[in-house]
Amino acid sequence: MPSRPQSKGQCAYCRQETTKSGMTKHLSVCPQRRAAIEQADGKKGASETLYHLRVQAAHQNEFWLDLEMCGSAKLADLDHYLRAIWLECCDHLSRFSMGKGWGEEISQNRKAQAVFSPGVQLTHIYDFGTTSETLIKVVETREGKPTTQHPIALMARNLMPEAKCIECDQPAAWLCMECLIEDQVWGTLCDQHARKHPHDDYGEPIPLVNSPRLGMCGYDGPAKPPY
Ligand SMILES: [Zn+2]
Ligand SMILES: [Zn+2]
Ligand SMILES: [Zn+2]
Ligand SMILES: [Zn+2]
Repeated sequence: MPSRPQSKGQCAYCRQETTKSGMTKHLSVCPQRRAAIEQADGKKGASETLYHLRVQAAHQNEFWLDLEMCGSAKLADLDHYLRAIWLECCDHLSRFSMGKGWGEEISQNRKAQAVFSPGVQLTHIYDFGTTSETLIKVVETREGKPTTQHPIALMARNLMPEAKCIECDQPAAWLCMECLIEDQVWGTLCDQHARKHPHDDYGEPIPLVNSPRLGMCGYDGPAKPPY
């Protein structure tokens, strides 16, 4: 694989784009995030421990998320989130475990605060056949009130990785499943070449979406956050 420039992502609070490695720093100083935290902390309700999670696809690290998860939320909430934003194709089984790979399973009924502390790393596996493996690392914690009414807040996400058309090198927006399955070629295509592409054994080319599961099993998006 050719070396790629460092993955960039966008802050969900102020829309600023920065590198994957710079995002943690940015989130700690982002004025809009600061304002959201101050506003939340000024409301009624109990404070709790909130966990900054860096989530990334185990074998495609240009796909990553920075999430803030409530300590009282369950791992099932995180599973639901990951399925919605990246993974769900046909309601496969999934599991969490401590560390890398197929460690001992952790129940999805466990709460974040019972499992997480700074430096802890979990693996999430979706689909035990065509597996999608996701690493979850606790970056830091804070005491306060959640900035949304949901168990998880999206703080930052990678920008869509750039793809080039295999025919003309122009930016691609489509993926041919026949190229992938029959020829093991990551057949990304521009609009024009997607229309002319001769393969249709697996249907028309599918739109490229911002998910590490694209092209696996029946996954075809939409790669949108659930809330
Ligand atoms: Zn920001
Ligand atoms: Zn599937
Ligand atoms: Zn093209
Ligand atoms: Zn093709």
